Amino acid sequence: MKRKTSLISQQMSGQRKRLVLLIVISLALGIAIVSQATLLAEAVQRIFVEKASLSSVAMLLGSLLAVMVVRTGLSYGNGKVGLLMASSAKTNMRAGVLQHLTHASMSSTLRGQTGGKVSIALDAVDEADSYFSLYMPRMIEAAIIPILILVVTFMQHANSGFIMLFTAPFIPLFMILVGLKTKNKSEEKYAQLAEFSGTFLDSLQGLVTLKIFGRAHRQQKKIERSSLDYRDATMSILRIAFTNTFMLESIVMLSIGIVALELAIQLLVFKSMSFHTAFLVLLLVPEFYSLLKNTGTAFHSGRTSMGAIRKVEQMFGETSGESTLTDEKEEDGTSDGIEEIVSMDRIERENRIGTFQMDGSNDISVPPSILLNDLRFRYAPESFKLETGRIQLNPGEHIAIVGKSGSGKTTLLHLIAGLLKPESGEVLIHGQPLSKYDEAAWFEQVSYITQHPYIFAGTFAENIAIGAGRNVSRTEIEQAAEDAGLAEVASQLELGFDTLVGEGGRGLSGGEKQRLALARAFLKQPAIILFDEPTVGLDLHTEQILQRSIATLAETATMITVAHRLYTIQHADRILFMDQGLLVDTGRHEELLSRLPQYAEMIDVQRRGGLA
Ligand code: ADP
Repeated sequence: MKRKTSLISQQMSGQRKRLVLLIVISLALGIAIVSQATLLAEAVQRIFVEKASLSSVAMLLGSLLAVMVVRTGLSYGNGKVGLLMASSAKTNMRAGVLQHLTHASMSSTLRGQTGGKVSIALDAVDEADSYFSLYMPRMIEAAIIPILILVVTFMQHANSGFIMLFTAPFIPLFMILVGLKTKNKSEEKYAQLAEFSGTFLDSLQGLVTLKIFGRAHRQQKKIERSSLDYRDATMSILRIAFTNTFMLESIVMLSIGIVALELAIQLLVFKSMSFHTAFLVLLLVPEFYSLLKNTGTAFHSGRTSMGAIRKVEQMFGETSGESTLTDEKEEDGTSDGIEEIVSMDRIERENRIGTFQMDGSNDISVPPSILLNDLRFRYAPESFKLETGRIQLNPGEHIAIVGKSGSGKTTLLHLIAGLLKPESGEVLIHGQPLSKYDEAAWFEQVSYITQHPYIFAGTFAENIAIGAGRNVSRTEIEQAAEDAGLAEVASQLELGFDTLVGEGGRGLSGGEKQRLALARAFLKQPAIILFDEPTVGLDLHTEQILQRSIATLAETATMITVAHRLYTIQHADRILFMDQGLLVDTGRHEELLSRLPQYAEMIDVQRRGGLA
């Protein structure tokens, strides 16, 4: 009746035994239903028509009771198998979503709303439940039991059989019509829900920022709009569902009425059939329609589930289309090099250590040369445009990117890191295009120290250890903290390195977070350091510690800094001057000062205390 998504067939093929069990139970249930009706009709015939004594039908009534118990048991069994199928399918799908989120390529990890992803991981997978717990068992029942009932009815009284045969198709026909209408609606509803959850979670996460910038009210309005949209989508689905139920009930009532009328005419007017037969058929007919009707309800929830499942599938599909940095052979590559986003499989990474050579000649574990080969990039058509021209950065050089706010410094850093993909041109590392390197191997050699490093909920020590991507000893962690100037901070924490930090734990100041990111980098010993220098003023002491640690770390790396400090700019081996997305000029401080008036002006502002 509908096209199965590949995710569903995948889940189903893993559950073949349960499917067979469902078929067996449904068959037994069909037999129980027919037996129950036969025994009941027989009992009524004997007691009320033949006036037999109660003791003579005791055996019959006993069997009837036994069949009823068996029938209840089978119905329960059917439901239970459905629930088990749903639970396994949901576990698998949820694991798949988690795997997807942790193993996705770096650029796809950064894309989209966090809230939207959470909504898919939790809500969409939950909505998939009814496909397995309701839709599948009902559909299997519908494929077996009504046919069984129809055969028995035909054997008893062909006319009733024909009436049932002619009226029954109206039910699935009607369901298909309604199904077509709800299909888009339920997908729309799901999109609304994802949007709503996304807006809500993102707002919660950014509540402080929103409040500081006086945007809380506007965001509140946005949430309200988003929740109203979701309500409207749900209500329109409910409206269709209610109309659907009403119409189905009417068709069923009408059909049963026609059969009953025909039976009454045969029994009373033509006297052409026995009471037993008429009563048996009358008992079977409602069972027949009620099964078809249940299928209608199941079909409706199946549709809603399909919308949700398709959403999960879409999410999976997005990775397979991704190839930003992933070697084709290494689909499963981890993407966790950057400290701020790391969540890694240690063993996998251990295995990778030493494997970043492309073909033996391009060991990126030594500070590489980086060639920006005519990079062009834009976020969207007609928006900000970045162009670099051809610039060679030598191994071990310390580069400062400078320029006004919004001139494209961070964008350039992200292009070099491989977090963004240029529209044209290439970043060449050791003469090889960045896109040819395996993403995980590349990020293993890169440390990106942002202005706001991410601190995971966990201990201080765990947060540092994450940088290494391998098992590290406590001594190594403490040494890295020492190198990053964090030893003093740790000693002041209540539980030292075992103090809980991040969400739910102790908060860390901006300077402390950056030093923590540095400690991660010390453990990693990267060949490339990308550093977004703090724009906000740190106290002199913290700044000196940061400066010193970065200098130590940079001794064995090619370092590219988005620079705001005069000191950093003056000491850089080379400065890349950006203006409105264009890489205008490169050179040492003195060179640019003498030949580039814009640069001299910027430095002048800087000297007088302004920020670039
Ligand atoms: P800088 O680091 O020099 O302040 P950025 O590289 O952050 O500059 O930004 C350069 C331009 O690109 C700005 O006009 C900014 O608005 C735009 N921009 C930055 N990030 C995005 C993004 N994710 N989507 C669209 N535009 C962006």
